[in-house]
Amino acid sequence: MIDFHTHTPAWRSATWLGGTPFGADDFVAFMDTVGTDQAVVLSHDGLFDPQPEANDELAAFVRQHPDRLHGFGTVPVRAPDAAAEVDRMMTDLGLRGLKLHPWLQGFSMHERSLDPICEALTAHGGILLSHDGTPPYSTPAQIAALARRHPTLPVVLGHGGLHDCWREALALTRETANLYLCICGTPPYAARQILAAAPAHKVLFGTDAGLSDRKSQDYAVARVAEIDGWRITDSQRRAMLVDNPRRLLAGASLP
Ligand SMILES: [Zn+2]
Repeated sequence: MIDFHTHTPAWRSATWLGGTPFGADDFVAFMDTVGTDQAVVLSHDGLFDPQPEANDELAAFVRQHPDRLHGFGTVPVRAPDAAAEVDRMMTDLGLRGLKLHPWLQGFSMHERSLDPICEALTAHGGILLSHDGTPPYSTPAQIAALARRHPTLPVVLGHGGLHDCWREALALTRETANLYLCICGTPPYAARQILAAAPAHKVLFGTDAGLSDRKSQDYAVARVAEIDGWRITDSQRRAMLVDNPRRLLAGASLP
């Protein structure tokens, strides 16, 4: 399976979930024990302090296992050179996408400074993954509005709407051609409804592995089993865990 939502350890900033530091070899060893073939690794420190150094550290982490790990960096969206940093991330650093966390980073998805950032990302065939599910910032509708302004950029709702916004996440994923949804932290009852009703090629699975201790990570991975067995077909399961993330990462994202 491909885990579409994991994080680097906190090297420089405090983490709220008390994760212990680990290296890329440790992370891949963990992936082996839970049957994860590849992972999208999102910035962690960069969300608290989006400096170029955070992207450098993320790139150094994923570069140790380039066949297993795909890095998504981040930028300060109001900085005049943010689009240039996207260019650098996607070329010099070999990253595959951009992670944004609107409430943690303190901006609205409606800000026009996001447009040149999305244009740079689109030009490099990148993917935008946003935290979602926590109003007032980071609602699926706000993220979908940005996706509609950039219809050739694949945009992923990183948490499937969580508890408060999963219905909205599902509706907007159905209505917005370039919007995808990652089940990650989404409650199982909501995940089942999403899987039953969303276009099968639009659903991804993630665990937030890397943010917390081993027990929590095992639980997150085990949640795929909670979704199983509730009218979920083998082809839906395979699409979510293998085919969809593989197609998105290969750049063949458009319907
Ligand atoms: Zn996350």
